[in-house]
Parts: sequence; C-alpha cells; structure tokens
Amino acid sequence: MTEQELARALMMQGILSAQQVQEAAKQRSGGKRFAQVLVDNGWASRSDIMALDPTALQAESTSLNFTKKDTDTAPAQTGLGQGEQRDLDDTGVRIHGEEDRHDDPNLGPIILYVNELLKIAVQMRASDMHLEPREDGLLPRYRVDGQLRAGGLIPKELMPPILSRLKVLCHLDITEQRLPQDGRFRADIGGLTFDFRVSTLPTIYGEKIVIRLLDRSSLVTDLRQLGFQGDTRDTFQDMLQRSQGMILVTGPTGSGKTTTLYAALAATRDDTKNVITVEDPVEYELTGVNQTNVHPEIGLTFAAQLRSILRQDPDVILVGEIRDGETADIAIRAALTGHLVLSTLHTNSAVAAVTRLQDMDIAPFLIASSLSGVVAQRLVRMICRSCRVRMGEDDPEYEAWVSRLNLEPGFPLYHGEGCEECNDRGTRGRLAIIELLPVEREIRRAIMNKASSMDLRDIAIANGMRTLWQDGLSKLRQGLTTPDEIARVLLGTEEGIDEESPATAGAGGPAH
Ligand SMILES: [Zn+2]
Repeated sequence: MTEQELARALMMQGILSAQQVQEAAKQRSGGKRFAQVLVDNGWASRSDIMALDPTALQAESTSLNFTKKDTDTAPAQTGLGQGEQRDLDDTGVRIHGEEDRHDDPNLGPIILYVNELLKIAVQMRASDMHLEPREDGLLPRYRVDGQLRAGGLIPKELMPPILSRLKVLCHLDITEQRLPQDGRFRADIGGLTFDFRVSTLPTIYGEKIVIRLLDRSSLVTDLRQLGFQGDTRDTFQDMLQRSQGMILVTGPTGSGKTTTLYAALAATRDDTKNVITVEDPVEYELTGVNQTNVHPEIGLTFAAQLRSILRQDPDVILVGEIRDGETADIAIRAALTGHLVLSTLHTNSAVAAVTRLQDMDIAPFLIASSLSGVVAQRLVRMICRSCRVRMGEDDPEYEAWVSRLNLEPGFPLYHGEGCEECNDRGTRGRLAIIELLPVEREIRRAIMNKASSMDLRDIAIANGMRTLWQDGLSKLRQGLTTPDEIARVLLGTEEGIDEESPATAGAGGPAH
C-alpha cells in the first residue's frame, strides 16, 4: 500500500482529516515514515494503521515489499532484499509442527506475510480474521470486541499463495477449491499460544477464509472474572457441586454462553469424575476432559453422540447446544439418572428456557424435576481501566443517559477516554451481564402447573432473582461498563428479556 493509499483509507474511515494529511506530508521530510508521523502526532493509532497496512510502521529497510514480479517467481526468491530476511523468532511467530523450519533460509515471503497477518490479528486482539476475495484483491477484516474492521486490500496476485499457505498449515487439500473445508493449526505468537480454527468457503471471487483465534492462555475459567458476582456466583457454584441435574446457559448468539459452560466445567472438574463433552465444534481443548465433535453429515448428531456418551460411564456431560426435542429428551433423562448435564439454549431470558423445553414437547414434570438452574447472559464491553473517568453530572450526555435508562439522580456513570492500552477505544475486554434462575420448590411447582413465563418470572423475582436489568445496572454503577453498552444489549431486546410480561417497576427495566 502506498502512502497515498494509506492516507486515503484513513480519511475514508474518518480517522484523518485532509489537513492532517498535508501536515504529515510536510513533517515526514526528515526521513521519518508517513505512518510514523501520524502515530507520533497522535492522529492515528498503531492498530488503525496496522489494520490497513501491516508494513507501514516497519523501518524502511525491512518492509515486506511485494511486487507482481516477486510472486510470479519462485517463492524462495523473497521480496526482501539481501540480508534482510528475518527468521521466525524475529517475527515472533512459531507454528507448531514446523519447528524444524526455523532455520530454513528459504522461508518464502508468503510464509512471512501470513505470519504477519496472524500477528496483526493477535495484536489487534481479534477474535476472528476474515480474508475475503473481492474483485480487485483479498480484503482482510478483523473482528475486535464483536465488530469487524477492514484492513488494507491485499493485491490479487497474492491471493492464491496466501490461501495455499493457510491450507498447508491446516493439512487441507490445496487443490480442492470448490468445496468448503475446515481445519486448525496452533502457533505461538508473542509468547502466547493460539489455536487457529480455519474454514474455507468458495465464493464467486475465490475462496473466503475465516480464521478464528482461540487464545489458549486467555480462556477465562474464573466465574467472577466472567461476571458472576456475589450471591449469584455462590448459588451457581452450589448448583455445580451437585452430582445430578441440568444447568442451562441461555442467550443470543455471541453472548458468551460457551465460555460460561467451560468455566462451569472447570468448576466441576476433578480427577474422580469422568467428564465428557459433545460440541459443534470443540473450541478450546481442556485438560482432563474428553471432548468430542458432532458430525451431522455422517449422522453423528448431538442426540446420537449423546447416546454413545451415556454408555461411557460419564459423571459430567457438556452438550454444546440443545436444538431439538430429541437431544433435550436424552439430556433431561441423563440429568435425572445421576449425571450433571450442562448445556445451552438459544432463548432471551432464564424463564424462557422452561417454555422452550415445553415447546420441544418435554413434559412439565420432567423439566421440573431435572432442571437445577438457568443462566441468561449478555456480553458487554468493559471500560478500559487505564483511562476510565466518571462523567460529570452537568454533562448533557450524562443527563440524557439518566433519563433514557431511568436512573436515579446522581447515579455514577463512567466511560473510557481512550489511551494506548485500549488502542484509543476506551473499552477493553468483555464481561457478562447475568441473570440466574435457581429452580427451587416454588418454581418447580409452578413449572408442573404449566405457569406462564410471566408468572415464573414474578415468582423468581419475589424469591430474589437478580434480573439481567438489575445486574446490568449494578455493573454500570461499579463502572465496569458504559451506559451505551447497557442500552445496546438490554434496551433493544426489552421485550425479549421480559418475554410476554411488561417491564415490572424496579425490576423489569426502565419505565418508558
Ligand atoms: Zn484506555
């Protein structure tokens, strides 16, 4: 990418003004790179620039300089000049299974380029990297804290070698370009170990690749770190200590259900228990746990796999997701016969899990007797701790939030101002907003009597259930998240949270 292209892209993203571009062009005359001038002036962050052009901030002499000629010739002929080749240790990327290649003088530019792409994804703390074939090139996009950010277009002629390199890493068929494939590889980057889960999808312009980054060292298995606080955490931990019963985690896609399941599993795990999972697919490899994948294409569905697992003398069973009545039925029967069963359901609230199971034709008495508890959750971005500030009460924005969220006067609200730690985003990491419904006597009786979810909810609240809304406000008050985030995940789905019930004053949500 030329400096003009970089400038144009940053302007289009609204990061840079035309005036700053002119000023930067003047300042760079001292031999400094254009991108470096932008960073030094604080006009663009390193990650903004890296996302567009991975090499823009490198010293001139070591930039990976691809031209059409370089890629047309043998891969051993690198685009790097003489004596400028870097080994894997320098780039900080170490692919597992390729350790013997560290000293390979023929490490091609493509290998280094792909390493560079992986490194950017890691530096940006992306959860996924997309490589999208477009008419005019390959567009990298990075999902950071739930949102996709585009990088700079990679020249079209680099597309085939990059895709081949990624396929080689995952032991996929390089020649197969018409069928979707998936695989994985592991690499150490900057001292952390990542699992990269790769899937390919042929599109009209070529194969699109999505790489999910699973940071093995960052898997949070601490319930408190995930967002379980106070009584909620104690109650949840008690449920996990029981030797039988079913615990469900609910929420929309991307609400962190799987992470909570893994943390729950970690809390139950000990050497005296046989723990088996059936997942679609296995995300993180957990020590001491027998993890299996479903393969619906060969008839190995959740239900089929669950039946086999039950013949393996399990104590704790994790079912990735309950999607159908058959799986629900087997899981519930397992929970009633001396197994602790953990699973997820795609519903918006804890009480809705009960009605969903009823909709799957599970008899109310089976639900009432098997269910130990249901968690409902949402993910919010956390305020960066290094740049968190309290909003002034005379700030018009503060007043707008207090009224929109129906907060009491003086309610403390915080936001991040943006700093180096958070790439100027003001937020860093995510946290779950949690509602936990323990299925105790009264709730159990109500389920047997086919109570509506509205009634179940009222009983639960009367028995002290902290709703998603209440937990959200508590985390807002603690300065863990912003009012925008609470509004985003809780206001938009208000009818979802309350199902058919209107917002109950003080507990359900803001009175509009
Ligand atoms: Zn910050």
